[in-house]
Amino acid sequence: MDWNDSFKCLKCGDCCRWHGYVRITEKEADSIAEFLGIDVGEFIGKMAVITADRRSLSIDEMPNGDCIFFRDEPPRCEIYDVRPRQCRDFPIKWNSRSKQFRCRAELYAESAGSSTQISA
Ligand code: SF4
Ligand code: SF4
Repeated sequence: MDWNDSFKCLKCGDCCRWHGYVRITEKEADSIAEFLGIDVGEFIGKMAVITADRRSLSIDEMPNGDCIFFRDEPPRCEIYDVRPRQCRDFPIKWNSRSKQFRCRAELYAESAGSSTQISA
C-alpha cells in the first residue's frame, strides 16, 4: 500500500506549532471569519498578517510559533472544519525533506521500515 493511502494523522499538533506562514486565500479568510462569526475585516485585522512577499495573508502565530488557532490538551485546531488548504495538504502534498518540518506520523512510518516516500 502506498504511504499516502495509509497515512493516519496522530493528532500530535506538531505541524501547528512551527514558526512560519499559514497562508490563506481570500475565500479561506471569508470561510474562517464566517466560522468564527465575525466580519472578515475584523478577522484579517486581528488574526492575520501580510506575508513578507506581500502576496498573501497568513494566520498569525503566537510568540512561541504556535498558530493562534492551535489549542492544547488535547492538541486540536479551533477552526478545523475550515482550516486552510495548506493545513489540509500537510504532509501528503508537501515536498519538504527538512528535518525541522517533518510530520511525526511520517517519521514513525519511516522508523518502522516503510520505504515509500511522500509524493509532492
Ligand atoms: S489553522 Fe488549524 S490546522 Fe492550520 S496551523 Fe492553525 S491550528 Fe493547525
Ligand atoms: S505532524 Fe503529522 S501526525 Fe502530527 S498533527 Fe501534523 S499531520 Fe498529524
